[in-house]
Amino acid sequence: MCWNFLRIGQDQRFMSQDPRSPLPLPTLSMSSPSMSVPSAAGNVRRRVRGAVGRGLAMLGLAAQLAAPAAWAMDDTREPAEAGDLRRLDVPGGALQVEVLGTTDPQRADDLHRWAAEAARATLTAYGRFPLRQARIRIEQSASHARSPVPWGQTSRRDGVAVLLYVREDATLQELREDWTAVHELAHLFHPYLGAQGRWLSEGLASYYQNVLRARAGLLDDEDAWRRLDAGFGRGRREDSGLPLRELSQDHRGTMRVYWAGAAYWLEADLALRRERGSTLEAVLSQYDRCCLRGTGEVAPETFVAELDRIAGGDLFASRFARYAEATTFPPLEEAYAALGLSTRDGELQLSADEGPRALRRAVMGRRPTTK
Ligand SMILES: [Zn+2]
Repeated sequence: MCWNFLRIGQDQRFMSQDPRSPLPLPTLSMSSPSMSVPSAAGNVRRRVRGAVGRGLAMLGLAAQLAAPAAWAMDDTREPAEAGDLRRLDVPGGALQVEVLGTTDPQRADDLHRWAAEAARATLTAYGRFPLRQARIRIEQSASHARSPVPWGQTSRRDGVAVLLYVREDATLQELREDWTAVHELAHLFHPYLGAQGRWLSEGLASYYQNVLRARAGLLDDEDAWRRLDAGFGRGRREDSGLPLRELSQDHRGTMRVYWAGAAYWLEADLALRRERGSTLEAVLSQYDRCCLRGTGEVAPETFVAELDRIAGGDLFASRFARYAEATTFPPLEEAYAALGLSTRDGELQLSADEGPRALRRAVMGRRPTTK
């Protein structure tokens, strides 16, 4: 399930929901929370009220409009809740990370550490954070959801915010093994692409949730290939026969939208590496420098045309047109052959041949999370 685009007046929202969890939805407060902002030394705190809370309140409204009825909005306007807000400096940007829903300092430290690890994983793309500023809000609550992170979303309004709802009994290790935080942060590599471009944006986040975690050491690289392959399998099972652009526009066929989209980026990445001596991250890095904005909408055709301008040729646009019209999951035989991936008895096999291994390593291999 993915809530991709909402408009309230002139406001735009970008949301992506963890598709595994049926209705784990926490209540968003309409109140305007105050927050504690540590100084650079982390000792002196000052109180901040207002803007973020109002933004999130609007987000709550957006979510209520978009989500099933089980997303109940709290309109009781309870007293403001203090969060634990800290600044996280990463190459290329500064993040404001807020933890809500716990009074345990150790737990707050753990959640901040988790957010920092996820943020640093994004550095394994091109060595710097894609936006100069962003917020991460982590809200802990009781939940019976199986997932340690039952809900995640990215909103774009008055800046960019990633919101992560965490099960209060989720251990730090469980959080580290979950994909949601890196998925949401990976959305910051692209502009908001509207409902038409939902498959493109969810695809990039789904591809990078595995690639970036493997590069950062949060996921074993073989496991990352297996997770990608499993995602492709889920996407392949969507058999409505509708074009991908239609599923994307109508918020249907979530698994094909996510994973055909991931296949697009995998294919594009491999084509860049094999045919151009370039990489997806190199192209995205240049796009970041020239064109990326955290807010505002870019048509998907414009986005891929810009990537082609950077990369040369029409690798992105031609593939985009083909994928958007496709009524079935894209064939990946060529990509799998290049990567040395095959399936035997339902299990993904990874070839030991040096060429495919080198290509797999080039995509998923460990790399530093700081520069
Ligand atoms: Zn997403």
